[in-house]
Amino acid sequence: MTLAPVLGHETARARLWGALERGSLHHALLLEGPRGVGKRLVALRLAMAANCTSELPWSQRPCGSCGPCRQIAAGTHPDVIVMEPDTTRAARTIPVEAVREVIRQSQYHRYAAAHRFVIVDPAEAMQEPAANALLKTLEEPPAGTGFLVISHNAKALLPTILSRCQRIRMGAVPVTDIEGWLGPLFPESEPAECAVAARLSLGCPGRAHGWMTDDGLGARRDLRQGLLQVLRAPLGDIYSYTGKLTSGGRQSWIVGVQRLLEILEDLLRDAAIVGAGSDLPLLNGDDEDQVRRWAERLWPEGLARCAEAVQECRDDLEVYVSGKTALDALLCTVRRELAGG
Ligand SMILES: [Zn+2]
Repeated sequence: MTLAPVLGHETARARLWGALERGSLHHALLLEGPRGVGKRLVALRLAMAANCTSELPWSQRPCGSCGPCRQIAAGTHPDVIVMEPDTTRAARTIPVEAVREVIRQSQYHRYAAAHRFVIVDPAEAMQEPAANALLKTLEEPPAGTGFLVISHNAKALLPTILSRCQRIRMGAVPVTDIEGWLGPLFPESEPAECAVAARLSLGCPGRAHGWMTDDGLGARRDLRQGLLQVLRAPLGDIYSYTGKLTSGGRQSWIVGVQRLLEILEDLLRDAAIVGAGSDLPLLNGDDEDQVRRWAERLWPEGLARCAEAVQECRDDLEVYVSGKTALDALLCTVRRELAGG
């Protein structure tokens, strides 16, 4: 089995693999960075490398073909435990019972692995009782057990969690690397499409991949059009728009809503670029008039308030039952700011 390449994060990986080789890997690592940048992939590769039984030098592990490597890749390794929100439940939280269960499991004798890992993805899905239940184990895990804590928004974590972890920051992957990676993955697509998706991803391969799949970039344009229209329409239109966006079970709408948030963030980013008089390339260069209008209306305080509202909406979507409520609040804020407060 050949493992897919890990894009970027050379500094973070050198640090982690170096510690692994020296036997000094911290028992609680916090991998932080934007959504889709590759945090979970690096966490899994680290767990694989630690358990890989090949003779390869440390820097070249994992091999991808030995027993433990295959088991971890398949998600069937008994000593690599992933704690994540239950996708079948409306609230995307990691409940306190799940944390207690993982703590109980981590007390057992390890099956075969030299290193047991508990991956928490993402940490912000633990509300206070769950986070508190984890604290003691995070500070003093059972021998041979390490925690790989993932966060898209470390600011939202409890200080008591942060202080127990060694923080590993994972920044944007170069856009050209992402473009080169997309090409062979989507051989049917035009190279220009890969270039646009890579640029839109802001250095997050997972996001770029998302833009290339499903209806991809055409759907993005339609979604942006709909969003811009509703923000100009009478207030009541927002409520019917969000109702349509979030109808049915969470599974059926969450991806679309996350896309919408990315589109909104891209527009805010572009407006900030124009507002600041920078000549960085725009993600919405095909609708520059719109971006200029946003910059005129929002730069600079309105942009900050809108960006904050997007983050709040994301946080709410992780935990709230009603996606509609979270979206209503966000779009009303953006509409009000565009209308001049
Ligand atoms: Zn291996």
